[in-house]
Amino acid sequence: MSISTATISKLIASVVETIEKNATELTELDQAIGDGDHVSNLQRGLQALTAQSETLSQLDWSAAFQKMGMTLMSSVGGASGSLYGTFFIALSKNVQNLPMTRIIFGEAFLKAVEAVKQRGKADKGEKTMLDVLIPVADCLNKDTNTPDLFERIKKTAEESAESTKEMIATKGRAAFLGERSIGHIDAGAKSSQLIICAIIEALTAPS
Ligand code: ADP
Ligand code: MG
Repeated sequence: MSISTATISKLIASVVETIEKNATELTELDQAIGDGDHVSNLQRGLQALTAQSETLSQLDWSAAFQKMGMTLMSSVGGASGSLYGTFFIALSKNVQNLPMTRIIFGEAFLKAVEAVKQRGKADKGEKTMLDVLIPVADCLNKDTNTPDLFERIKKTAEESAESTKEMIATKGRAAFLGERSIGHIDAGAKSSQLIICAIIEALTAPS
């Protein structure tokens, strides 16, 4: 089964709703070990994507991801803006001329996560969004044909975001705190989990 870009508006709306609903918690997380702007950064990007959602749904996936990446790069700001931009532009390159199936998306997602690792010079265990993105990429590429794939991804994302609580930040603003970053979930890991779960909810919701 392949998914069309006509679903993009629905997916963006679901992400907007989740970020809105969790704005206070996310802001508190970024205030604790960062500078508190993560939600406003995300919301600026989401507003720009919402304004483009009609146009995006007319494009193929590769062109849509490319446009989303450029938009996020220029609208989000902060450390996260260039990382989200990098992620979507890498997705775009890796789905070119291909139907959007689970397998193709899984492989493209893995490569996009690799691109984020390179861009941010970071890896697993450094208390960033990568602590959610890496395990989700692994999950997406394992046993793709089982009916519980979406449930497994959601669970992996939730547990991975939670696991950042005990980590010492070695990248991003939180790294300045060193050991004092222990005890707080990373805001970017939490928002990545919420975004991934919101996309799955929208994909599985009865239309
Ligand atoms: P800023 O840190 O510039 O204020 P945001 O608040 O929007 O930007 O985003 C912060 C999030 O970005 C962090 O919680 C972390 O998950 C992620 N992040 C920061 N630096 C890196 C990096 N080098 N690699 C991956 N993710 C990072
Ligand atoms: Mg911040």
